[in-house]
Amino acid sequence: MVDISITQQSSCYTFEQLNHSTYKVVQHDSFNDLPFIYVKVYETVLVLVDTGSGPNYCRNPTVQSKNIRPFIEAHLAKNGQLAYSDPEGKTLNKKWLVFITHSHYDHIGGITEFTDDSEIYVSGNDKDYVLHDLGCHSLCCAIGMETPKFEVTHWLQHNERLSYNGVDLGLEALLTPGHTPDEIALYDINEHVLFTGDSLYETIPIYIIDTSDMVEYIKSMEFLLEYIKAKNTELTSLGIRVTTAAGHVTDTADTEILLQEAIDCYWDTLNGKSTLTERIYMRKLNVGIYMNAKRNVGFLCIDEKLEAAIKHFKTNWELPPKPDPETAPSLPSYAVLTD
Ligand SMILES: [Zn+2]
Repeated sequence: MVDISITQQSSCYTFEQLNHSTYKVVQHDSFNDLPFIYVKVYETVLVLVDTGSGPNYCRNPTVQSKNIRPFIEAHLAKNGQLAYSDPEGKTLNKKWLVFITHSHYDHIGGITEFTDDSEIYVSGNDKDYVLHDLGCHSLCCAIGMETPKFEVTHWLQHNERLSYNGVDLGLEALLTPGHTPDEIALYDINEHVLFTGDSLYETIPIYIIDTSDMVEYIKSMEFLLEYIKAKNTELTSLGIRVTTAAGHVTDTADTEILLQEAIDCYWDTLNGKSTLTERIYMRKLNVGIYMNAKRNVGFLCIDEKLEAAIKHFKTNWELPPKPDPETAPSLPSYAVLTD
């Protein structure tokens, strides 16, 4: 249910409940990426998964509320979830623990609102990727955004079960490089939700771009599929299955089914069996969009990334003719703002 008391008229964001302990915040941004941001509420801490594109990229630049932190905190305060009483009866604001699913601009754009007093959790898979040349790695340079500065306080390990000051967060970190080297998934043990960032979502293609490694991607997805199958088996007697809360578009899909569809589409793409829906010339790069027959899963691939994966797995398929730089669109058709 969308809370309509603070709507897009006055704010850049919308706020709705996802499950018992989690809210979903959507930024209505000028790029039309519509980043999904998640807030998990605990007794003494708050977990934030991603931060959106930041206050300078509201779709409607005249809205009053552009900053994500006061927007979320106003909602939590209204629900009595922002503060708690310590053992001496003193009222304290809960501490923010900020998890970054990966460091692209539409996930780290709002992070500076939290850097002074919050914990920042980032993948420990490739620290150099985050510590050096973040401007290019975040794509901030490519789109002309000032690169946010932040200090990582906790480098996440694979299969790390997370707690903070003795508070069990019921979260497990999974390092899932592919879309970027620092991509993570977070498994919410109590709500049976997998936060997947930009590794997995529906209807718009998964991006295999400058920052991506298509060979690493499939290893991560095949790991996730086995991980989620085991979780679903454990949950069978309860009649529950794991669902996906992604960085865009998807907040409730069946994770095992969606992962299987993405993996099938991946191999079909490497074998020339998925449908080429668009040829694009994007940032001087040759790009193709390949979708499955249902058109619910697909990949937007830079040619050289797809060619590297084809070579690695020896699937022996030749890419279609290159897009014409003079006439090919520079953006996927779905990304063009219509109003
Ligand atoms: Zn991304």
